[in-house]
Amino acid sequence: MSFDTLGLSADLLRAVSEQGYNQPTPVQSQAIPVILQGRDVMAGAQTGTGKTAGFTLPLLQRLSTSKAPNGRRPVRALVLTPTRELAAQVAESIQTYGRHLPLRSTVIFGGVKINPQIDKLRRGVDIVVATPGRLLDHVSQKTVDLSQVEILVLDEADRMLDMGFIHDIRRLIALLPKNGVRQNLLFSATFSTEIKQLADRLLNNPELIEVARRNATVDQIKQTVHPVDKSRKRELLSHMIGSQNWRQVLVFTRTKHGANRLAEQLGKDGLSAAAIHGNKSQGARTRALAEFKQGKVRVLVATDIAARGLDIDQLPHVVNFELPNVPEDYVHRIGRTGRAGRDGEAISLVCVDENKLLRDIEKLLKCELPKVVLEGYQPDPRIQPEPIKNGRGRAQPQSRHAPKNRKRGGPANSRSAAGTSDTGSRWSQSSRRGAKNGPQPGQRKSHGSSRKARPAGAKRSGAGNSA
Ligand code: AMP
Repeated sequence: MSFDTLGLSADLLRAVSEQGYNQPTPVQSQAIPVILQGRDVMAGAQTGTGKTAGFTLPLLQRLSTSKAPNGRRPVRALVLTPTRELAAQVAESIQTYGRHLPLRSTVIFGGVKINPQIDKLRRGVDIVVATPGRLLDHVSQKTVDLSQVEILVLDEADRMLDMGFIHDIRRLIALLPKNGVRQNLLFSATFSTEIKQLADRLLNNPELIEVARRNATVDQIKQTVHPVDKSRKRELLSHMIGSQNWRQVLVFTRTKHGANRLAEQLGKDGLSAAAIHGNKSQGARTRALAEFKQGKVRVLVATDIAARGLDIDQLPHVVNFELPNVPEDYVHRIGRTGRAGRDGEAISLVCVDENKLLRDIEKLLKCELPKVVLEGYQPDPRIQPEPIKNGRGRAQPQSRHAPKNRKRGGPANSRSAAGTSDTGSRWSQSSRRGAKNGPQPGQRKSHGSSRKARPAGAKRSGAGNSA
């Protein structure tokens, strides 16, 4: 299939071909014609599927072919995203795809000064891409008027709910023109009960679009688990990056503190590394991401929320330094590599504490991930699993064998189980895929072992605060 058959205007087709896209991705070929017809859409697609162009191209076309009332420039399209990074990326896509159209757009998120945003809004924009909190600040300062929004996009709706934005979203929706006048597009990687409830209230007879991208893309990602003791993960990571000469690797930790500490330690190992998480200023986040994309920083250490939606072209390596508490996050994490049809590699360093998390991931994926014990990094069988701390001293039970006298509690981050996965749903079925097997070249390199066995139940370093 070619883009020409989707009903897009010449200006948009030109922008698409300037991007070097030869053919639409599945979500694009399904969503573009439907959105052009003005229908509501509920799409099961995540970052990496080409979903941004899937809603941006028809949105731009619809706005450019209909006139704003009164010759003014009211906000006619609103795209809500969970994170600042995603907002910035979507806004960039809108600029790119809309470069031959006379439409104006702006991006609004917190962590930066509000006045430049107010100036832009005052000058008039057709499209606003925003995170909910800062947009509500503008609403309360009366610096944005949403009463003429014709198209609403909820991008990564599942993550917005996970991050506790449901009330903000409801408040914003209440400010929009009545449903029926407005076109609504909801994109989500997973469909929990909450998302379905939101969709029921928001969407009018939506076209359901399900993209088997997780199958397709995840199949292009070579996944490997390296069992290793927790205390030796950093050493192993530095060794892998150095010995295999990885130039660009995205590493995930569970906590902000863990991300900071790891970035610092890697720096001491001579690897240029930066951390990106919610406690960093927006300036620091943007800078770290830019330097990583430019190749100035070799290792970007991120928490799940900060990394959500990151689009880094040709990212070859993703490492789970720690497995995520929420199995769906594993799919999001490894989806940072193997983008747009390219091969990628996802490696998980798994210590004995994380076996339950690994089992949960494998259950979600409906397959076992290949495990490769690296020579010199064999886990010490004497080490007993302990509950995983998720921050502020809270521990999550991980093992039946964990010491009983430890505090038990839920995950410290804001994600509720309800907002994460609905493994029985048809949406998550699309994530069922097989992993490529076998060790990587050079993996079995011998490495002098200086590890000390820790007595069972010995104290381990805490994981720090939550992401
Ligand atoms: P997204 O899922 O929107 O974050 O897009 C993922 C990546 O795919 C981005 O880097 C896009 O530039 C790229 N992309 C989007 N559509 C296409 C296409 N039709 N062909 C090739 N790459 C694409």
